[in-house]
Parts: sequence; C-alpha cells; structure tokens
Amino acid sequence: MIPFRNSLPYDIQMNDVYATECPFCGQAHVRLPLKPGEVAELRGGSRKRAVVFPCCHERLQLVDADADYLLADRPLDRK
Ligand SMILES: [Zn+2]
Repeated sequence: MIPFRNSLPYDIQMNDVYATECPFCGQAHVRLPLKPGEVAELRGGSRKRAVVFPCCHERLQLVDADADYLLADRPLDRK
C-alpha cells in the first residue's frame, strides 16, 4: 500500500497524460512525457517508469498508478 502522500493526480486527454499540478514548482496542468499505454503498464505495480517534468526538470520515479493517481516512490509534499 503506497501512502497517499506519494500520489499525483493525473488526467488523460487525447493521447497525452497531464499532471493536475506539478508537485515541485506548482505549475498547473503539466503534460508529462508519458503515454496512456505506459500508465496502463504502471497499474498494478509490475512496471516502473521515471518521468522528468518539463516545467522544472524534476525527476520522479513512478511505481504504480490507478484510475486517478500516479504513485511515486517518495512523498510529494505540496507547498
Ligand atoms: Zn514543475
């Protein structure tokens, strides 16, 4: 069970994955270098995927996903 602090809300629009808000710099609606098919592979935690946020170049290791959240390997403490 991954703690809620590690979760990042996301949306899929067309063929792109957007973070609702960047946990590092606060930018809203950030398009992630991630495809919906890769989110599907994350679900269940069998695959891991690193993403670099285009807004501030912070790197995040994703370890799981569900229908609403991407789950990171560390807490995302929002300001
Ligand atoms: Zn950012």
